[in-house]
Amino acid sequence: MHVMTNKSPHARWRSLPLGKVSVTGGFWLNKQAINRQVSLRHGYAQLEKSGNFNNLRLAAGGGEGEYKQPVFMDSDVYKWLEAVAYDLVNVRDPEIEGMADEAIALIAAAQQEDGYLNSYYQVIKPEERWTDLDHDHELYCAGHFFEAAVAMHRATGDERLLNVACRFADHIDSIFGPGKRDGAPGHPEIEMALVELYRETGERRYLDLASFFVDKRGTGKMRGYGHFGPEYHQDRVPVREATIVEGHAVRQLYLTTGVTDIYLETGEQALFDAMGRLWHDMTARKTHIIAGYGAQPRGEAFGPAYDLSTDHCYCETCAAIAGMMWNWRLLLATGEARYADLLERSLYNGFLSGVSLDGRRYFYVNVLQSRGGIERPEWYGCACCPPNVMRQIAMVAHYAATVGEGGVQIHQYMPLTVEAAGETGPAAKLHMETDYPWEAGVRVVIDETDGSAWELALRVPGWCAEAALKVNGEAQQSVTGGQYATITRAWQAGDVVELDLAMEPALVEAHPRVDAIRGNLCIQRGPMVYCLEEVDQPDLDLLDVRVAPDAPMQARWREDLLDGVVSIEVQGLAAEPGEWDGNLYLPSAERKIAHRVATLTAVPYYAWANREIGTMRVWIPRPE
Ligand SMILES: [Zn+2]
Repeated sequence: MHVMTNKSPHARWRSLPLGKVSVTGGFWLNKQAINRQVSLRHGYAQLEKSGNFNNLRLAAGGGEGEYKQPVFMDSDVYKWLEAVAYDLVNVRDPEIEGMADEAIALIAAAQQEDGYLNSYYQVIKPEERWTDLDHDHELYCAGHFFEAAVAMHRATGDERLLNVACRFADHIDSIFGPGKRDGAPGHPEIEMALVELYRETGERRYLDLASFFVDKRGTGKMRGYGHFGPEYHQDRVPVREATIVEGHAVRQLYLTTGVTDIYLETGEQALFDAMGRLWHDMTARKTHIIAGYGAQPRGEAFGPAYDLSTDHCYCETCAAIAGMMWNWRLLLATGEARYADLLERSLYNGFLSGVSLDGRRYFYVNVLQSRGGIERPEWYGCACCPPNVMRQIAMVAHYAATVGEGGVQIHQYMPLTVEAAGETGPAAKLHMETDYPWEAGVRVVIDETDGSAWELALRVPGWCAEAALKVNGEAQQSVTGGQYATITRAWQAGDVVELDLAMEPALVEAHPRVDAIRGNLCIQRGPMVYCLEEVDQPDLDLLDVRVAPDAPMQARWREDLLDGVVSIEVQGLAAEPGEWDGNLYLPSAERKIAHRVATLTAVPYYAWANREIGTMRVWIPRPE
């Protein structure tokens, strides 16, 4: 769930309300259109086919056939509804509204007299509610439900789900809390949802309940799955004492997101300090170049420091999404560009790789090297990722701008309109014109303003060495990357700010301790990480390719390729096997490995696995 309309007292900047910032063209408008026309309908059909809707029908006393597991099937319905809510702000689509109405009625019918709502327990274990918080996702599903209800209320004013949500939250509040039952969810999620429910309703008990669930963690009492210990659930140490990100990556990052939400409302420094330690551990040691998280398939978990393998990594799409949600809240709290930088890196890479170009196939795991045979399925038995992707794409514009401290801040670049209402910022309307992420130029035009002097802040991404800035055609001092360029003046309608972010192809390498990719280089251009796919270099084995640090590179717009991308031609090398042919091991000695020149075509990583199945790699070795 995205923080919107927050009046959080400890936020430096605030989200704009739903509908006050909208994509008007380009890359993301295209993704939103596919999301609406394909993914949301596809999701609805898959939820029917997989039994999610039928589970709720069974809980409501109807339905037929058997209950379908896993235990958290309800949450997929809720995430899909949340996506629908955000999309209805963009375009009212009667067919999708009809699907949502049906789902809302079903959920309301499934709710029990006392407010309880969870189809698994209602159908399979009616006598055992709240008996397995460690594993059974009851509170997790409740959290996703609250988020959908809040989103629907904000998007359309529809109170039906919100009423069901408050009854359920009140029921949970009657069970858990000081002097009541102790416990914390094995899978965090409800924490951020309760804070949002508090923001939407003003009911303080919901915020207190979120804090209670955070405070009850870290006692080591949770039963890990199989071999996994309490770190799997972030239960090894109390949140305020945590120093490293660990365990299941999505759980860890949903937890930090919820904790940061609590900080935004309460300002408790110990919570914020813990978040700072965890963010540092994650970004300095445990983040893949695509801003994917969770190096280890075993336990879907963060690995040890510098464990960032390319072909056996996990990088669940939901973890990238969770990372974006966390970074967004840290940005609201601090106004520091590094959080928007990391959010952007996920947005165009580790998140966006989670959905196919046509919007109907998905990745759960996002590897950085494929040895072949990987393709995107239409859905998953554990389908947490697809509807999570849908809700992010539907609300992507909301990552682009905030208001606060008397000004307007632009964080992500896309053609859009921004409408600030004068609360903690100016009363102003502006719009942005850009071909980002393919082109570096950005124009911000002030359309309406209240005549006061106010600050416009534009993020200069960390990948940009130096950005040129002009106001009404007049060059300003250039700004180095990793901070906000700020201009304060009494703006007038028609004023134009131009930013040129100098987007050139570049090669990057990893900290030398990352042994999995030591001596390897990765191609980037602007926010995009690039990869090599077999289909673009059919005469080469990707195990043989090499790229020197000074390799010439040429970026080229390719209308015909992958729905239109900027590809990068690289003058690389291909290793000749020579005396290695037929030998897997040889005595260590000075060996001259012969290379021949090979032109390589790199494409944006997010777009891989949309053509014929083949090998792929992000990291490319230097020549020996
Ligand atoms: Zn997932």
